[in-house]
Amino acid sequence: MKILVTAGPTREPIDPVRYIGNRSSGKMGAALSAAALAGGHEVTLIVGPVSAAMPQGIRRIDVETAAQMHDAVLREFPAHQLLIMAAAVADFRPVRLESRKLSRGQAMSIECEPTEDIVAAAGAAKRPDQRIVGFSLEARGDIDRARQKLLRKNLDLVVYNPIETMESAAIEPVLLWRDGKSETLPSRGKADFARVLLERAIALFKT
Ligand code: C5P
Repeated sequence: MKILVTAGPTREPIDPVRYIGNRSSGKMGAALSAAALAGGHEVTLIVGPVSAAMPQGIRRIDVETAAQMHDAVLREFPAHQLLIMAAAVADFRPVRLESRKLSRGQAMSIECEPTEDIVAAAGAAKRPDQRIVGFSLEARGDIDRARQKLLRKNLDLVVYNPIETMESAAIEPVLLWRDGKSETLPSRGKADFARVLLERAIALFKT
């Protein structure tokens, strides 16, 4: 199978040296890519700026901003059957990019606008032979918001995980399907979870 994975944060520039970003490490996307590769699949990884090592043997596309990740995902998705959207896309970007480094000394505010909702755009473009898995990082217990994302973004499976998952080596996931089914898994390493998630994602093609 041809599998498209996204990983890491995006960076939304404020001026030539500063950006809005988040603490995503890219570990989950790296683990998913490695598991897919080990299963004999072809992997394309679209990755934001990360320091975590990504597996060898994948096709890797580096991006920086949400807009670049959006363009790369929509360009690549048609040639893949499965999209796993593990990237932590920045939700806001500065409306204006300052051409010079802002100097210190005064209070300042940054006007922001929402970034593209990448997985929702992929969900809208999804063919009947394609499946999409998303992640939903929420405050502990807020599973309802994850369920809403599954439906609103036209995903086939969503992984709810509490905020503490970010940067951590472990994940404490709940899987949610469109038919209302859910599966709660005990806390486990991301490599271990990647194998389970891939199995569940591949099973989506039987329905
Ligand atoms: O940030 P949030 O919890 O809403 O993310 C849910 C899913 O949507 C994740 O799979 C994430 O990769 C994706 N997402 C996206 N574009 C955004 C924000 C999130 O594709 N701008």
